[in-house]
Amino acid sequence: MTNTRDSVPMKRYSVFAVAREGLRYHTGWGRAWRSPAPKKKYDVIIVGAGGHGLATAYYLGKNYGITNVAIIEKGWLGGGNTGRNTTIIRSNYLQDPSAAIYDKALSLYESLSQDLNYNIMFSPRGLIMLAQTHHEVRGYLRTVRANELQGVATKWINAEQVKELCPIINIDGPRYPVMGGLYQERGGTARHDAVAWGYARACSDMGMDIIQKCEVTDVRRENGKVVGVSTTKGDIDCDKLGMVVAGHTSVLAEKAGFRLPIESVALQALVSEPIKPCMDVVVMANTVHGYLSQSDKGEMVIGGGTDSFNNYTQRGSFHHAEETVRALVETFPMISRLKMLRQWGGIVDMTGDRSPIISKTPVDGIFVNCGWGTGGFKAIPGSGWAMAELMAKGHSPLAEEFDMYRFREGKFIDESVAAGVAH
Ligand SMILES: Cc1cc2nc3c(=O)[nH]c(=O)nc-3n(C[C@H](O)[C@H](O)[C@H](O)COP(=O)(O)OP(=O)(O)OC[C@H]3O[C@@H](n4cnc5c(N)ncnc54)[C@H](O)[C@@H]3O)c2cc1C
Repeated sequence: MTNTRDSVPMKRYSVFAVAREGLRYHTGWGRAWRSPAPKKKYDVIIVGAGGHGLATAYYLGKNYGITNVAIIEKGWLGGGNTGRNTTIIRSNYLQDPSAAIYDKALSLYESLSQDLNYNIMFSPRGLIMLAQTHHEVRGYLRTVRANELQGVATKWINAEQVKELCPIINIDGPRYPVMGGLYQERGGTARHDAVAWGYARACSDMGMDIIQKCEVTDVRRENGKVVGVSTTKGDIDCDKLGMVVAGHTSVLAEKAGFRLPIESVALQALVSEPIKPCMDVVVMANTVHGYLSQSDKGEMVIGGGTDSFNNYTQRGSFHHAEETVRALVETFPMISRLKMLRQWGGIVDMTGDRSPIISKTPVDGIFVNCGWGTGGFKAIPGSGWAMAELMAKGHSPLAEEFDMYRFREGKFIDESVAAGVAH
């Protein structure tokens, strides 16, 4: 049922609006987005209201004026991996197509709060990827050179510089002393929910329908072309369909009659009790396999690894939390004295070369955006930008190399080093 407050137009957030609402006890804020009933037909349906789906819809409207769009979500918006990740943002990838799309995303992140009129709490606090073996030193020096050629600013820093940026680190670890690190000053974090909410609010304001608690159960086709979807709220027709469902991509692709080289696994994270500020940089330790940053609330946000078997279990498990913390304690001894508060998991969509798929499909009118695996939060604005261009124009330079057919042709975009730790 459509809520009556849905008809209240969206108000811009500003210091004046906050002051005005403060004076009248915050009674005048409208809904951030509407919750309409689905229409019979849309020009475009996006399945999945995670960051990538919402960003795709947003740039379809903003860049191409396509606003007769529905974003269909089986749960609540941002409730998938977008609301479960550890929010690391960086663009220091090795291969040219990756650097291009991740750096586009980072550039868009830098002004996203202004663009969406929604504070996404982007915090470019700097990011270090630790080198703790000779192999990693060589790998990261190679990435620094590649980034130089791509115009992505990164640099190699030695162990003492690492210690200066992150005093809580133990650079003389018994097994894996810190030998230096790959440093990206523009890297950092953002508030994950706010990214989803900001895009959702802007999409709704453009007249798009965000339909939550509505699962797409089938993809309807006629003569090799998409004509609509069946959902738990009935059939909805469309001219174009974007599948942006992360860990459920293979399930949905099967309903549309094609297969994708995606494996779904659970990826986990945990946070500690809040403590006073002790770390104002993001640190990733690929060798011991874990990474760490401190949230605005003071919690240490800790990322672990993926399960070693395919599954759809959207939850954490004790052995992973134990393994991750045990590995990190060697490099960050102080965390051994912290209590861990919460753990959780998300279903991530892994490709063989650890790069995403943004592509047309064998079904006319169906486009797919997936394969972001353990590291797609950082890519949300760039991915949405490219997917919208592909859906609107049939071609996108940013997406070109991420075609699904690259696996058949052996044109892999190998990012197994850049994605070596789950982030
Ligand atoms: C623990 C963890 C830590 C991570 N840390 C980082 C990090 O630090 N940095 C980083 O860059 N990335 C990180 N990631 C990865 C990142 O979260 C994802 O790559 C990204 O959020 C994927 O966004 P999405 O929009 O594609 O998917 P999602 O946010 O999962 O959205 C997909 C949506 O599709 C919906 N859906 C599925 N099937 C259907 C259906 N049939 N009908 C309707 N709706 C459907 C789901 O309910 C879901 O809401 C992490 C992931 C996890 C799990």
